[in-house]
Amino acid sequence: KTPAKFHITDSSLIRSIYQPRKTFAHKGNFGHALIIAGSTGKTGAAVLSTRACLKTGAGLVSAHIPRQSLPIIQMAAPEAMAFPDAEDHYITRMDYEPDDFSSIGMGPGIGKELKTRFLLRELLEKIKKPLVLDADALNIIAATKGYLKLIPSKTIITPHPKEFSRLFGDTANDFEKIELASSKSMEMNIIIALKGHNTFIAHPNGAGYFNHTGNAGMAKGGSGDVLTGMITSLLAQGYTPEQSAVYGVYLHGLAGDLAARDRGMESMIASDIIEHIGNAFK
Ligand code: AMP
Ligand code: MG
Repeated sequence: KTPAKFHITDSSLIRSIYQPRKTFAHKGNFGHALIIAGSTGKTGAAVLSTRACLKTGAGLVSAHIPRQSLPIIQMAAPEAMAFPDAEDHYITRMDYEPDDFSSIGMGPGIGKELKTRFLLRELLEKIKKPLVLDADALNIIAATKGYLKLIPSKTIITPHPKEFSRLFGDTANDFEKIELASSKSMEMNIIIALKGHNTFIAHPNGAGYFNHTGNAGMAKGGSGDVLTGMITSLLAQGYTPEQSAVYGVYLHGLAGDLAARDRGMESMIASDIIEHIGNAFK
């Protein structure tokens, strides 16, 4: 029997979260999101999360990418601004004040270079706002002693099951994994989106949400990078971290379902999820 603290994400819940754009709104009303992503050979991860962030409604989007990725991201996402790193191939240095951004999403394709690890540490120590952490940001945290406790409260982490195990250890089955996600969320005061067919979102107050949108066509490289961009975008717009995680996961799965309907599960790729975010909103 499912305890009362567990919920299912459905369209009425999402409608209650959604805030319509006001007629006289300007871009300043929708925040400035920063995506920290990419390394040589994984510039695509930065492109996907940046484009997904743009497509989810943030007023301004910037991308901090390795220097050599600059022309790529500017061509693939001309609406975004870019902060090229001092280093050609990796993310190593913040030449900005992180708290100047409304939200920051870090992780897709960043790799685990030593300088990148130090940068993540600096960000975790400096930032006063919740972050969105995914992929190699989580792998770095899992691999580096002392980083886990630096995660700012209300941060949203989006591990797939392997990343989750690296962070919190192995579990015997999915039920235990869900229990562990819920207890770690409460203990660390963070939001955990444990990704999978029915992504489970644990809130620090003990509530848990099972998402039912999404399909096996999304079981491909890049899908998670899209989710990171979407959640970072919602957070920039003023949705709470809890709302951003639930809304982002639901919308991401729905965009994936619309992509599958249009293009088929085999042929759809992460870019197709991004192309269907608009219809998912509608
Ligand atoms: P990642 O492993 O980081 O690329 O993330 C994969 C994304 O695609 C997550 O948001 C998953 O929830 C989603 N996804 C992958 N496989 C499936 C599936 N079989 N059904 C529904 N969603 C999926
Ligand atoms: Mg991923």
